Amino acid sequence: MPFIAKIPSTGERVDITKINNPRAELKADDLVCQLCGQPMIVRQGMIVKPHFAHKAECTSDYKRHPESPQHRAGKELIAATIKKELPEYSLAKVEYEFPIPEAKRVADVAALFPNGWIVVHECQLASITVEELEQRTEDYLHAGVDVLWWLSNAANTPGNRDWCQSKFGFVLILNYDRLSAEDREG
Ligand SMILES: [Zn+2]
Repeated sequence: MPFIAKIPSTGERVDITKINNPRAELKADDLVCQLCGQPMIVRQGMIVKPHFAHKAECTSDYKRHPESPQHRAGKELIAATIKKELPEYSLAKVEYEFPIPEAKRVADVAALFPNGWIVVHECQLASITVEELEQRTEDYLHAGVDVLWWLSNAANTPGNRDWCQSKFGFVLILNYDRLSAEDREG
């Protein structure tokens, strides 16, 4: 349930979080998944914020995971936090769902620096082992991409916090208290 879709005729990446009224501004039948090229629609409800959805299944071979509304909210929180609180990111372009083809992974949030450096910020809410964190981190590093993990919910375990502490020297916890109640629904 992504924030990003592609307009096939122009190749343009569309970030739905930057569009006030998606159904008014985006044309039906002109949006595809950036990974598999299959058609996507706009989904939007009373509480659920606008996002894209496949008409059918995603057929790409990228490693992906189902995304809850809370996960989508987490990505927005991460993007807002790094732009607001980390001066080193002032020059970076912050993108949602940025594909890293060499890793066959889609970064939740990617900071693209003018000199070509990419730093990925992953929003991890679902239960995950230290081995999996290590493997995914290696996948990104082999692609030449640095990665940081933001933990919350089932992923916020003492073991995972210890791993982050020893790997990075700090632990990033997603603080959902900063979000409105509406964003935390579902
Ligand atoms: Zn797809």
